[in-house]
Amino acid sequence: MQDRRPLEGKVAIITGASSGIGEASAREFARAGAHTMLAARREERLERLAGEIRAAGGTAIPVRTDLTDLSQITRLVRMTLAEYGRIDILANIAGWGRYDWIEELSPEDLRQQYEVNVLGMAELIRQVVPSMKSQKSGLIINMCSYASQISVPPLTIYASTKYAVEGLTDGLRRELLPWGVTVIRVHPSGVTGTEFNEHARKNGGITYRSVPVGRISREHLAKELVGLALHPRRTLFISRLYDLPVLVNKVFPGLVDAVSAAWVRRQRRKDLRTVGQVRPARYPSPFPLWQIAGGLAVMALVAGLLLVRAL
Ligand code: NDP
Repeated sequence: MQDRRPLEGKVAIITGASSGIGEASAREFARAGAHTMLAARREERLERLAGEIRAAGGTAIPVRTDLTDLSQITRLVRMTLAEYGRIDILANIAGWGRYDWIEELSPEDLRQQYEVNVLGMAELIRQVVPSMKSQKSGLIINMCSYASQISVPPLTIYASTKYAVEGLTDGLRRELLPWGVTVIRVHPSGVTGTEFNEHARKNGGITYRSVPVGRISREHLAKELVGLALHPRRTLFISRLYDLPVLVNKVFPGLVDAVSAAWVRRQRRKDLRTVGQVRPARYPSPFPLWQIAGGLAVMALVAGLLLVRAL
């Protein structure tokens, strides 16, 4: 029979627990038996969620935490250790992005995306790692995105923070392996039931609609995260449909440049009207056509020889 509370007694810090993926994950980790520490800025939401989790027989402690404030991160870690004496799981889910052209972003919005998505995450990990090392076990789940694999406007700054999360996660996975600490990155595409888009367009910003395919619900993703705690893997990519544009971006970045630039030209028609003649740079291809043609020719030759042998 399947264990209904497979994480019984584990202590989990979940950031971003006031809405979206973090909220659903907190419910799911608690349902799996973990003691949950709920972190985010909107305290009343955390309290409501903690009440709901307790009413369902789980444990949850709300801790108001602004990830841009070092002292609040320290308080979260201290409170967790004071309450339980250990930290088994750190689910770094909090994050946000803003859809806008770089020069239209306010300096605060630009900085805040890095402060929350990268620096806050890295600082929390920095403070949690010593206890995981002394336990010789621990799991860190870092919320990435498909945006860390292909950066396009108007998500440029957001995507760049996720590229940083990817680098942070890969390095830490290797650094912490000898201590038995597991570090995983998760790349969802579109997740429904979250406030991400609302925040991305707050105070103006650009109307941007991602392709409505391969979306999953936050509840589905939360189940996947609990699954990772039981069966870890280096990365989890949700909706492999997005692997295609990622592959195209690697092999034919010029194509993605052209499509993105065409979109920008359409969006910024008015701004471009006064610009006059422009001569964009022509970048060499990382995989010149002759290499691709050569590769295809070799593959065709091998396939031909195999066919001849088979007949
Ligand atoms: P939501 O906007 O619903 O949730 C974002 C969470 O981050 C909130 O709980 C918010 O809490 C918290 N947060 C924001 N700023 C801070 C801060 N300064 N300090 C502490 N917490 C903060 O969005 P999602 O649930 O969709 O996003 C969760 C993660 O998933 C993000 O990292 C996002 O990049 C990633 N992601 C989302 C995708 C999607 O389609 N939704 C796709 C790919 C990745 P509060 O405001 O109360 O502080």
